Amino acid sequence: MPDIAPTDPHGFKRRGVLFVLSSPSGAGKSTIARKLLAEEPELEMSVSATTRPIRPGEVDGRDYHFVDLERFRTMVADNAFLEWAHVFDHRYGTPRAPVDAILASGKDVLFDIDWQGAQQLYQIAGGDVVRVFILPPSMAELHTRLSRRATDSTAVIEARMGRASSEVSHWDGYDYVLVNDDVERCFAGVKTILAAERLRRSRQTGLIGFIRGLTR
Ligand code: 5GP
Repeated sequence: MPDIAPTDPHGFKRRGVLFVLSSPSGAGKSTIARKLLAEEPELEMSVSATTRPIRPGEVDGRDYHFVDLERFRTMVADNAFLEWAHVFDHRYGTPRAPVDAILASGKDVLFDIDWQGAQQLYQIAGGDVVRVFILPPSMAELHTRLSRRATDSTAVIEARMGRASSEVSHWDGYDYVLVNDDVERCFAGVKTILAAERLRRSRQTGLIGFIRGLTR
């Protein structure tokens, strides 16, 4: 991973943050990701590729790159994914080149991926990765939120509920676990985590030069 991403308050260079947000569907992760991108100009979204059908309201290239199975397999064979996984009978993957480009442009990257993706990314990029898991306040509340969405059939909602329990069981693969009982409070927590992680000493690659100048 490139070690550039400037603009800390002193103009030090630092390593880019690979910021992962995971949660069961309906826990409010997309809202939080949207708000974060709106308020953080130094953060850009990684747009995944998926073989699942496009939903009403989604835009190809913005929400996902919607591809067929053959194209997905070709991308896997070409090593075009940083990570990929089977989720709900479909395949999802993080294209590698855009992530490299975002980091090289000096920005941090936001990933909306599941625990399998978080695990793989951590294997590849270790300390550059920050993994945040968002929990619903209760499974009943999650069911209500999923039903309100109305884009999914009852069968899909039930399948998502089943999967949510298994997702939640992976909470210990994350650096931070937040409960989204109040979206503003949860969002404030996520922003604080990003701000603190940007300031982590291990990311401040320009620090040694500065210290030398101080102590000269
Ligand atoms: P949805 O179909 O509701 O958009 O997403 C289903 C799940 O797939 C979510 O948990 C989402 O985080 C996960 N997901 C989306 N893109 C990727 C990806 O590129 N890699 C992995 N591992 N999971 C992904």
